[in-house]
Amino acid sequence: MLIPDKVKVGSITYQVKQEHIDKTDDGLYQFGVTDYLNAVITINSDYPQERKEQTFFHELMHAVFFESSNSDQAADERLVDSTGLMLYQVFKENELANLKKS
Ligand SMILES: [Zn+2]
Repeated sequence: MLIPDKVKVGSITYQVKQEHIDKTDDGLYQFGVTDYLNAVITINSDYPQERKEQTFFHELMHAVFFESSNSDQAADERLVDSTGLMLYQVFKENELANLKKS
């Protein structure tokens, strides 16, 4: 599937970028980052397509919780990851997204 260049979450349009993201200062790999204030989702372009798609749904869930005034949930990585993983599977395997396959 094609990762969109932008996605509207609540009343905010997030820009979606795919580019290299450096490791954290602790040496951890980062698959993606969501900047709520600037409304930018960045997907690390270094990884395979399915990993990037999975990461898109993870970052999307961060934005969904944040934009729905659920900041505690937006910071809950376990909740964000589990809902993102399930949403990715449901959208992909049921072809619900109006996205071209890559
Ligand atoms: Zn996260």
